[in-house]
Amino acid sequence: MNTEFNENPHRRFNILTGEWILVSPHRTKRPWQGKTEKQSLETKPKYDPNCYLCPTNGRMGGAVNPDYKKPFSFVNDFSALLKDVKEETYTKGLLHAQSESGICKVVCFSPDHSLTLPLMSKEEITDVISLWQQEYNELGAMDGINHVQIFENKGDIMGCSNPHPHGQIWAQRSIPQEVQKKSDRLLAYWNENQTSILEDYIKQELALNERIIIENEHFVSLVPYWAVWPYETMIAPKRKIAHIGELSTEEKKAFAEILRKTTIRLDNIFETSFPYSAGIHQAPTDGKEHPEWHFHMSFYPPLLRSATVKKFMVGYEMFANPQRDITAEQAANTIKALSDVHYSKQ
Ligand SMILES: [Zn+2]
Repeated sequence: MNTEFNENPHRRFNILTGEWILVSPHRTKRPWQGKTEKQSLETKPKYDPNCYLCPTNGRMGGAVNPDYKKPFSFVNDFSALLKDVKEETYTKGLLHAQSESGICKVVCFSPDHSLTLPLMSKEEITDVISLWQQEYNELGAMDGINHVQIFENKGDIMGCSNPHPHGQIWAQRSIPQEVQKKSDRLLAYWNENQTSILEDYIKQELALNERIIIENEHFVSLVPYWAVWPYETMIAPKRKIAHIGELSTEEKKAFAEILRKTTIRLDNIFETSFPYSAGIHQAPTDGKEHPEWHFHMSFYPPLLRSATVKKFMVGYEMFANPQRDITAEQAANTIKALSDVHYSKQ
């Protein structure tokens, strides 16, 4: 890359959303006088009688969890979306609204309250992926469900109120806007080139080897060229796979392996249980062919300089566009240099 870009402010283009981000590498030289202390390693019990996600415990809605041994999902007792909402639109002058319907589910990754994804084995993570696959297929096949969003909020600074290892799935009638933006970009490139823009991008990244964290036979983990969050990472299959329902058994194991190693490395950055929002973007379930789609999982972690110093999206970022100081290459080098062994087990 042009060496000037490593030193000077520049903008980078996100090929998947069509949006720009401002990078200001010169600012990493400015003095930092904030806190840098490490957090002490908190130990959680394997079972918490007050946790509404632990096996055999009662939930607020009145249901009782089974004594589950593998990943377990259920309909959220406080769903943001409801099934069977009548389809209607409202337009009055410049006011527009439409009804929305869907299903929200909770996915417990493990019966063990003390774990997180990076502390689970490859086999246990493979079971989580199998459940995601099953949910994507079942929810996606339902009438009126055109999109299935799988995601995880990890850590209380991300607003996750329960430390039990779990994620969520929101399945709904409309295509959410983040997905629609990517769908439009993927489709335009597909129509022009008959290839996946993400597959071509991954080929270029593997050849350059500047932002690759790790790879295995089927998957790659990298810091995207256009990353917004300081240690933002993306995991994607090397071949174009439209959605996780298409993963073979072997590919599922490869996905689990890279998911485990990537989240271990994220925890190792500041030797803390790294908070993030992670989500899978994949083909809509609207019954149409989606040859353009190439699924990927993104991690948006807010931590910047230590286990307690967080990046805020404020000011210029709220009014103009996102901005970052450390470059994607610097972040990739930091994560790449870390161990695949979790710091708590070193
Ligand atoms: Zn629990």
